[in-house]
Amino acid sequence: ISFAHFGFDEALLNVIIKHGYSEPTGIQKQAVPVAMSGRDIIGIAKTGSGKTAAFIWPMLIHIMDQEELQKGEGPIGLILAPTRELASQIYTEAKKFAKSYGLRNGIKNDAHTTLSAPSQILALPKCRVAAVYGGASKMDQFKELRPGGIEILVGTPGRLIDMVKMKATNFRRVSFLVLDEADRMFDLGFEPQVRSICDNIRPDRQTLLFSATFPKKVEILAREVTTEPVRISI
Ligand code: AMP
Repeated sequence: ISFAHFGFDEALLNVIIKHGYSEPTGIQKQAVPVAMSGRDIIGIAKTGSGKTAAFIWPMLIHIMDQEELQKGEGPIGLILAPTRELASQIYTEAKKFAKSYGLRNGIKNDAHTTLSAPSQILALPKCRVAAVYGGASKMDQFKELRPGGIEILVGTPGRLIDMVKMKATNFRRVSFLVLDEADRMFDLGFEPQVRSICDNIRPDRQTLLFSATFPKKVEILAREVTTEPVRISI
C-alpha cells in the first residue's frame, strides 16, 4: 500500500510528498483506508508511529467533503488530547497539511462542464486550525476562536469545556471526533470531561480512539463512544 492507494486528492498528496514522506507507516497503512471508508476505529498505537497523520489526513478529506464548510463556526474535526504538549504537536501536524487546502483541483460544477474538460482550480475557503489547553490564557484562546470560526480544533478536555461555556465555540458541527492517548487522559483524571464532550456530539459522527495501552476502563469507554469500530493494533 502506498499513498496513491488512499484516495486522497492531488493537493494533499503533493503536500505529503513535499514533506519528504516516501511511504505510509504501519498504522497509516492500516488505519487510513478504514477511516476513509467512514468506519470508527479503536487503534492501539504509540506516539512515534505516525498515528497523528493517520487521523489528520482522513479528517481533512472529511472536512473538505462537507458542503457547509463556508458558513459554520464551530469545528468539524475535534481532537481530544491529554496534555498541552501533545495538543501542540497535533496542532503543528494539522497546520502542515491543512495548508494544502487553500486551492484544490476539481471540476467546476456548472452546466458547461464536460468530463473531457481539463480540471479547473477551485478556490476553497481555508481550513482553519486552533489549539486550546490549560496553562495558557483563556482570554487569548477565546479571541483566537471567536472571529469567523475554525474547522479543526485540538484541545485538552477541561479547556475545551471552558471554551464552550464561554461561548467561544460549540460542538454542533463536529462530525469527526478523535480521542488521542485515551489511556493518558484517564490517568490524568479527564474521564468525566471526555464523557461529557462525547455525549454532546451528534451520535452519527465518525469516531477514532487511540491508546498506547488498553486497560479495562479504556475498553469500556471505547465501546461506549464508538459504533461498530474496526480494531487496529501495530
Ligand atoms: P506521530 O507518531 O504522529 O507523533 O509521528 C511521528 C513523526 O513521524 C512525526 O514527526 C511525523 O511528522 C512523522 N511521520 C508521520 N508519517 C510519516 C511517514 N509516512 N513518513 C515519514 N515520517 C512520517
